[in-house]
Amino acid sequence: MTIKAYGAHAGDQALESMEITRRAPGPHDVQIDIAYCGVCHSDLHQVRAEWAGTCFPCVPGHEIVGHVSAVGDHVSAYQIGDLVGVGCIVDSCQHCEECDAGLENYCDGMVGTYNSATPDAPGHTLGGYSQKIVVHERYVLRIRHPKAQLAAVAPLLCAGITTWSPLRHWKVGPGKKVGVVGIGGLGHMGIKLAHAMGAHVVAFTTSESKREAARALGADEVVVSRNAGEMAAHAKSLDFILNTVAAAHDLDAYLAVLKRDGTMALVGAPSSPHPSPGVFHLIMKRRSLAGSMIGGIPETQEMLDFCAQHGIVADIEMIRAQEIDDAYDRMLKGEVKYRFVIDCASLAA
Ligand code: NAP
Ligand code: ZN
Repeated sequence: MTIKAYGAHAGDQALESMEITRRAPGPHDVQIDIAYCGVCHSDLHQVRAEWAGTCFPCVPGHEIVGHVSAVGDHVSAYQIGDLVGVGCIVDSCQHCEECDAGLENYCDGMVGTYNSATPDAPGHTLGGYSQKIVVHERYVLRIRHPKAQLAAVAPLLCAGITTWSPLRHWKVGPGKKVGVVGIGGLGHMGIKLAHAMGAHVVAFTTSESKREAARALGADEVVVSRNAGEMAAHAKSLDFILNTVAAAHDLDAYLAVLKRDGTMALVGAPSSPHPSPGVFHLIMKRRSLAGSMIGGIPETQEMLDFCAQHGIVADIEMIRAQEIDDAYDRMLKGEVKYRFVIDCASLAA
């Protein structure tokens, strides 16, 4: 079927309306009418060809929510009308050690929601800045939030799971002092989730203007990282840091606030390398520097259910698809609190 989407034909071109095709649902497929799609900084990195290997035309978007509009013959878990989501993964090999563990995000055959090879036209996947998507049922998530919150649930599909997975893996909870670095789409979810898990949360921001706002998100303390004195006040005191910054920066300043055996997990994926770490920041206190990529399907469902139970959604600003390039520019300036979400009804215009 032919549908409308918003994407780019080259890394230096603005996004524009385009027509794309979606396959007819196979036996295990779920067809979703997309209501909203969140705007992740990864969309910008990819569509503007800041990362290597962007396939054009590129239709970004991996924070997808909507309702089921058709199901394949063998689909029993979903029915027409169900509220569902799709995150960053639309397929994987389904039989390796990673898939068996529910960590499809680490499967070598993982198929990303956009920019991954697929037999469907045009040979690579096209994402959620579009009217519909067809996805194997294994990669479809159930949304239990009230329907009125649907738009604000969209960012949970990437920003939510990308912060939830490392917070859980490194056992964040009561009694732990946890830093979240960079208060953007990912970071603001990291603060909300770490707070709901019972940790003492310290938000690190480069933006003085976010000091009060970070507290409202659930941060117990806020550090403006440009102020050396504020950083020094937390020296050697944190158990874990989740670093979401989208640009290359000095990691040593954050390693210095970890206590013995503390870990900093990087989830930000800047297009150029960080200038550090200095090895002494690691060996002096047996600190670890780690990374984490999105999360598996079962833990994504666990995160969505936790958020529904605790009333957690993203703080969003709704835009029309036609406003996407301005939204990217504002995201680069840190001007969004904290996630743009596209109203996909605007694609019909
Ligand atoms: P975002 O909304 O733009 O937030 C990034 C935040 O980083 C900004 O709000 C800002 O926070 C801080 N920042 C940005 N530029 C900076 C600079 N030059 N120096 C210092 N701080 C800076 O982006 P996002 O959607 O949260 O994504 C963040 C990163 O994670 C991106 O690189 C994205 O590609 C990546 N990502 C990774 C995964 C994964 O699986 N690992 C998944 C999704 C996204 P302050 O104003 O508070 O300083
Ligand atoms: Zn993302």
